[in-house]
Amino acid sequence: MSDKFDVIVIGAGPAGYVAAIRAAQLGLKTACIDAFTGKDGKQALGGTCLNVGCIPSKALLDSSKQFHNLTHNFAVHGITADNAKIDVATFIGRKDKIVKQFTGGIGQLFKANKVTAFYGTGKLLKGNSVEITANDGSKQTISATNVILASGSVPIELPFAKFDNKFIVDNAGALDFPEVPKRLGVIGAGVIGLELGSVWGRLGADVTILEALPDFLSVADADVAKIAAKEFAKQGLKIKLGAKLTKAEIKGNEVALTYEDKDGAHELTVDKLLVAVGRRAYTAGLLADDTGVKLDERGRIVVDEHNHTGVDGVWAIGDAVRGPMLAHKGSEEGVAVAEWIAGKAGHVNFDTIPWVIYTEPEIAWAGKTEKELKDAGIPYKVGTFPFAAIGRAVAMNEAVGQVKMLAHAETDRLLGVHMVGPGVSELIAEAVVTMEFKGSAEDLARIVHAHPTLSEAVHEAALSVDKRAIHKGN
Ligand code: FAD
Ligand code: AMP
Repeated sequence: MSDKFDVIVIGAGPAGYVAAIRAAQLGLKTACIDAFTGKDGKQALGGTCLNVGCIPSKALLDSSKQFHNLTHNFAVHGITADNAKIDVATFIGRKDKIVKQFTGGIGQLFKANKVTAFYGTGKLLKGNSVEITANDGSKQTISATNVILASGSVPIELPFAKFDNKFIVDNAGALDFPEVPKRLGVIGAGVIGLELGSVWGRLGADVTILEALPDFLSVADADVAKIAAKEFAKQGLKIKLGAKLTKAEIKGNEVALTYEDKDGAHELTVDKLLVAVGRRAYTAGLLADDTGVKLDERGRIVVDEHNHTGVDGVWAIGDAVRGPMLAHKGSEEGVAVAEWIAGKAGHVNFDTIPWVIYTEPEIAWAGKTEKELKDAGIPYKVGTFPFAAIGRAVAMNEAVGQVKMLAHAETDRLLGVHMVGPGVSELIAEAVVTMEFKGSAEDLARIVHAHPTLSEAVHEAALSVDKRAIHKGN
């Protein structure tokens, strides 16, 4: 088939498939090309997020949380169960079913919106044509007025700990262990390392996380990181900071690790090793030599503030470009680019992108950290409120953590909200809305919050900015 489209999207992750649907909604004749093959050997739309990222990790986090609660937390409610067991095949099978439901759902959305899906690897050629290479090696070329590059990212591999996908694994491998590893090593205490370390730790693995940096979760607000570190330690996650992996050797059925910290070199033996040291933009085979599209020093596609590459009609979005590697960031860029192409006013506010870590307790934030405000010399006020004083959190037996709010000292405008505690993945939305509307702590303080709910912690933290929280000393 040779055809001319208004828009071709390369990559059907949350950036690309959303861009394709929005473009089609706007009346543009749209194609979307994706190369991802699912566990059943068929095309699986949805990219990293739906296949081996956000959705499967949350499925396993939820199942493992149920098991952990049953074995550790239900006794206080008067609920006990003898010989609680986890059947790993069912646990993984449930996750696979959810993945299939959602990847299949993208196919249906494409059909409903008349997006033409191609299965294969897309390569941008000069002049906005795209060559598609199918699995069997056959090729076809299609062209469009606009091409959106949404090729996403892949895990970073350490040269001295190469993935063999059995003993040394990436995120995809750690979502598919056939049994609970007795000893699990995790390299990198970032979002992925903490989430997947938690999953297997809750099922009984002895988890050691090695993190090269001296500070825990330095991307988050320091108070949040401190509370989270304490809770993770209570759960039995051994997090070693300032510990840099230097060697990993598969010996029989074990992996022998060498890491270095301030006291010198140490050895650690584990049954499985998850390397979660970050992800890099994926552009292998994406660009013919003469397209004019540029990559930066980290291999990301260079774009301007409108996600335009500087080459006429060529745009790029999602993990393949600058900015946080988050599904919702890519999706919003996808919508904005489709709207810019259609002559509308697209918009992505990078100052209010929420971050969530789905551990227990959950961690969520949006806006500036206290350190960022200090470093920038911006005067601020702080309000905090602990979940220990929230009736609903106590009733749930999940009264851990706090909400911390940072507002401008003079204007009271909300600058950052940092949460650690129950359900904060949902509570953060209120902070995002307030910041998007350029609201103040006072605005939040005046809003009626239902009682008893976890959201009262947001209300009380807003009151606490002006030292008038009701249910704690100020
Ligand atoms: P991707 O999702 O990587 O999709 C890119 C797609 O393009 C892939 O299907 C790829 O096969 C395809 N492709 C690449 N090159 C070509 C080509 N040349 N031709 C055809 N197809 C091509 N983010 C969150 O916001 N929340 C979370 O809870 C979260 N959890 C995560 C958990 C894990 C374990 C991991 C690994 C990531 C998680 N992320 C999370 C990050 C999130 O998955 C990514 O930010 C998101 O998937 C990026 O979307 P994308 O569309 O840019 O790229
Ligand atoms: P993230 O980028 O959030 O996925 O986090 C990855 C983490 O891995 C970062 O905090 C890095 O400091 C850490 N890291 C990278 N290389 C190593 C290494 N060799 N040993 C231990 N930790 C590492």
